[in-house]
Amino acid sequence: MEEIENQIKALRQKLHDHNHQYYTLDSPTISDYEFDQLLKNLQYLEEKHPTYYDSNSPTQRVGGGITKSFQTVPHKYPMYSLSNTYSKDELIQWEERLKKILGEDVQIEYSCELKFDGASISLTYENGNLIQAVTRGDGVQGDNIITNVKTIKTIPLKLKNDFPAFFEIRGEILLPWKGFNEINQKRAALGEPLYRNPRNTASGSLKLQDSQLVAARPLSCFLYSLAGESLPVSSQFEALQKARMWGFKVPESAELVNSIDDVFDYITSWEVKRKSLPYEIDGIVIKVNSFFQQEELGFTAKAPRWAMAYKYKAEQAFTRLNGLQYQVGRTGAITPVAELEPVLISGTKVKRASLHNADQIKKLDIRIGDTVCVEKGGEIIPKITGVDEKKRGAFEDRVVFIENCPKCFTPLKREEGEAQHYCINELGCPPQKIGKILHFIGRKAMDIEGLGGETVSLLHKEGLLNSISDLYRLSPEQILPIERMAQKSVANLLEGIEKSKAKPFAKVLFGLGIRFVGETVAKKLAKEFKSIESLAGVSFESLIKTEEIGNRIAQSVVDYFASEQNKEQIQALKDFGLQMEVIKTKQDLHHAFVEKKFVVSGVFENFSREELKAEIEYFGGKITSSISAKTDYLVAGEGMGPSKKEKAEKLGVTILDEKSYNTIRQKPF
Ligand code: AMP
Ligand code: ZN
Repeated sequence: MEEIENQIKALRQKLHDHNHQYYTLDSPTISDYEFDQLLKNLQYLEEKHPTYYDSNSPTQRVGGGITKSFQTVPHKYPMYSLSNTYSKDELIQWEERLKKILGEDVQIEYSCELKFDGASISLTYENGNLIQAVTRGDGVQGDNIITNVKTIKTIPLKLKNDFPAFFEIRGEILLPWKGFNEINQKRAALGEPLYRNPRNTASGSLKLQDSQLVAARPLSCFLYSLAGESLPVSSQFEALQKARMWGFKVPESAELVNSIDDVFDYITSWEVKRKSLPYEIDGIVIKVNSFFQQEELGFTAKAPRWAMAYKYKAEQAFTRLNGLQYQVGRTGAITPVAELEPVLISGTKVKRASLHNADQIKKLDIRIGDTVCVEKGGEIIPKITGVDEKKRGAFEDRVVFIENCPKCFTPLKREEGEAQHYCINELGCPPQKIGKILHFIGRKAMDIEGLGGETVSLLHKEGLLNSISDLYRLSPEQILPIERMAQKSVANLLEGIEKSKAKPFAKVLFGLGIRFVGETVAKKLAKEFKSIESLAGVSFESLIKTEEIGNRIAQSVVDYFASEQNKEQIQALKDFGLQMEVIKTKQDLHHAFVEKKFVVSGVFENFSREELKAEIEYFGGKITSSISAKTDYLVAGEGMGPSKKEKAEKLGVTILDEKSYNTIRQKPF
């Protein structure tokens, strides 16, 4: 009989070891098949010899036990929550508080750990055997869910090495993404509703009555703290290393550092790395490492003073859609903006979110009063990504997109293939006028100091500022009488405007706010076409031949320069002394052109007359309209009148056809 007992014990030990190798260390030493064979052997022997029952046998892991209702048990040591923050400044303040208690020049080491997003659990071991597993509950008492917990393969049922006789260890039970997705795939196939996130699924799993169902869920458990009397360790980090030796899964991600700056580095590095972890974390936990210091710091009513959770920004939240507004941008683009019941996302209160365009509204089939999902990602403006249709009442109204501009009532237009509606009253629609001025003075454009949104609106209201060229018409006498405009700020403002005249052409071009001409496109166009004249004269066809300039941009540029009002505006800006061409370097001047007088006539194959003239001017030549004795070149295209040619010949003017013109311009500069 003793032989059987020994055989069973040996088998159990073997299986515990293999389990540890496989699940906790991720390095199995036998095949799955061999493992299953050993387990089956054990099951057989245990069934045949029930006297050798062991509640922590590896066979318990497959589950089978049904718990009708979980037993509530008090925690021997309360399970506190953690103080948390989203701000690094608050971490610095935390350290200051620590130093007040511990002494200003006491060295503090920190254990930096990941904050696993799952369900917390407190495990009790007696003589190396798991005897209890209690949920956090209210922190004072929780449910003993040991039958379910035993099915979690990363939780050792028997410990190894030099463990203390009696202690508690705490950790987080979580469901890695892979398992979560697999569960949801299965549910989808069965037509069952999907689980929303791994954390809820993990804690839900732990409350299942049938432990066999729990065993089927690929839960894992990471341990992060010891509790007990006379533990064989004197610091948090040491505790982690010991726990690992006793057979617990303690992630290698923990780091011991000795300054708050190093804590920041840890936070920063995991901010990115966390996205590729196989499970979810919602922050970092920073713990004073020394147990001696921990004791001195003690606890508040809710949390230890010696620990702090730094949380990464939570990225989404659900809230009520109270209404919808339509914003008119500087290009006339209409953006629907949701007015939300204020909700905290990533530590900031969100009241508005973008709904992008009419299509998006249609896609979401959104109604006023809906509960919507708001997301705060990389963008500054949060966006609505979904609607909780289950929460929708019977009376909510479908949103119907407006047909007229909310500010000037012009009927809206939507070009084919475009998502956005536009108010086409470009020059009369107040928000467009103001928007254009704000864009022009913005940091990436003219960067005019001393002028902000409020002042622009004020000056607009006073009738002093209707277009960007009006900026250069402002005088102190006009502005001073306006409310809230002190002498000093007026002087600042005018100085800022004056300085802007020196801004390079690319910035001016960007500042004009031509639709689709962003910063890089403006640079590209400036580099390619050198001056506003030449750009204004370029045809759609030659524009699209330019690298990176597509139909949309080309059309927009052509349309812009076709407008009389825009032409006037540009002339005005030029007269005020703004940079309307790329400042030439010596190399840009063409020796064959400098100071030479050109007359251009006829039609050309490869460029428009305007382009040609702009180029000649760019290279340093002068354009005149009629031929005289002073004319150096007549550039003659197709269909030039015979009288011009005659005159040129008579006066000895060099006549260049398109081909010979090209030969000259392509000579080395
Ligand atoms: P909170 O739920 O926001 O109050 O945060 C406290 C919880 O964070 C604890 O109850 C633990 O369940 C969990 N937690 C996750 N990772 C850790 C960790 N490394 N150290 C301590 N607590 C952790
Ligand atoms: Zn309008």
